[in-house]
Amino acid sequence: MRRRSCDLAIVGGGITGAWCLYFAAQKFPAWRIILLERSRIAGGATAHSAGVFFAVGRSDRERHLAGRSAVHYAAVRNRLTLESSEAPAYWIADSTALPALRKMSVGFTVECCQGDLEGATDSLGLRVVSDAAETLFYGGTSISMEPTAVATALIRHSALSSSASACEGVGVQQIDATAGAIDLVLSDGSVLTAGRIIVAVGPWIVNGPIANGPIESVASERDIRIKKVVALHIDQAPVSRSPAIFLYAHDAYLMPIPRRKQWLFSFRSEEWDVKVEGQGLTISQLDRNLARSILGQYFPDLVDHCFGGRVFCDAYTADLEPVVCSRDNDRLIVVGAGGGAGFRLAPGLAEEAVLRLV
Ligand SMILES: Cc1cc2nc3c(=O)[nH]c(=O)nc-3n(C[C@H](O)[C@H](O)[C@H](O)COP(=O)(O)OP(=O)(O)OC[C@H]3O[C@@H](n4cnc5c(N)ncnc54)[C@H](O)[C@@H]3O)c2cc1C
Repeated sequence: MRRRSCDLAIVGGGITGAWCLYFAAQKFPAWRIILLERSRIAGGATAHSAGVFFAVGRSDRERHLAGRSAVHYAAVRNRLTLESSEAPAYWIADSTALPALRKMSVGFTVECCQGDLEGATDSLGLRVVSDAAETLFYGGTSISMEPTAVATALIRHSALSSSASACEGVGVQQIDATAGAIDLVLSDGSVLTAGRIIVAVGPWIVNGPIANGPIESVASERDIRIKKVVALHIDQAPVSRSPAIFLYAHDAYLMPIPRRKQWLFSFRSEEWDVKVEGQGLTISQLDRNLARSILGQYFPDLVDHCFGGRVFCDAYTADLEPVVCSRDNDRLIVVGAGGGAGFRLAPGLAEEAVLRLV
């Protein structure tokens, strides 16, 4: 049996694994670090992600992660010259929501717009209607990037600037932790002996090829489930300075994506316990009806422009807090469960995972 060894193995080449590689290569330049991806780099949830970053958080921890992520995304956007677009952010929410919106925001303040919602058509560049007693708020900037390009650039930069490397088409099938090291049994029959391991397998944390032993224990401890995630495309080109509009009561938002000449409408599909493979995740009629009913309530002109979209799944903990869990005296770290916000929180999560390494 062929054997290799390394100081650190990172399992999973999505946005979380890519950020882990980036931080670990900087922090431990002398280490031999290998990222293992069973399929293609950034081919999992990251390939389907809308790539929207907005510095908000539901809890103190999420706000901390979002704040750290804001710093790191700003740095790599320049350093790795990543393509991105920015949109001023607005919320449509109940008039009493201002304290909650202010609490969620990281590094900016939310203010109330003057006048009624229907009068906001000019500032939003879209016709807005509303029967409800809702108000328009503004504050912050929402950013959109191509997640696959970001992950690929992070990995390429790490490989060029250190002895780290990434291997595609190599899945980890089994993890055997012994006293001194961790043996990873790989899909080609070989064994990789690693001093430490970070597991960043996205939705494969449940029912994936290594969903047993320590991985299974993290998934069951945090009650992780897999939910479908859907975003529809709206085939109407945004005008210059089109805003991102968050619909607070619906956990939904509209984001202009100028480079694709379309808007993206993200909303909550409630299909739980889906299988990451084999089932063929699709945008169902139920998803379309839900999206259209929310859009129709606020932006009736956009309903007939819904055309296609993105669908995959993501891992969610019971309390919606993402995971950075250590096992085996910090030699094995499981990171992820982004709960539909894993692109936004990936740098903060990866930084926390790498800081735990000894
Ligand atoms: C339609 C859609 C829109 C989204 N929009 C946004 C958004 O706008 N903003 C946001 O913040 N989040 C968004 N998300 C969520 C975000 O995409 C995910 O949270 C994030 O991509 C998760 O990244 P990850 O690296 O943890 O997982 P993944 O990208 O799934 O990466 C895990 C990788 O691990 C590999 N792997 C699994 N098992 C093994 C193994 N045994 N051995 C080796 N490799 C293995 C997989 O092949 C995969 O490539 C969206 C998600 C979807 C589906």
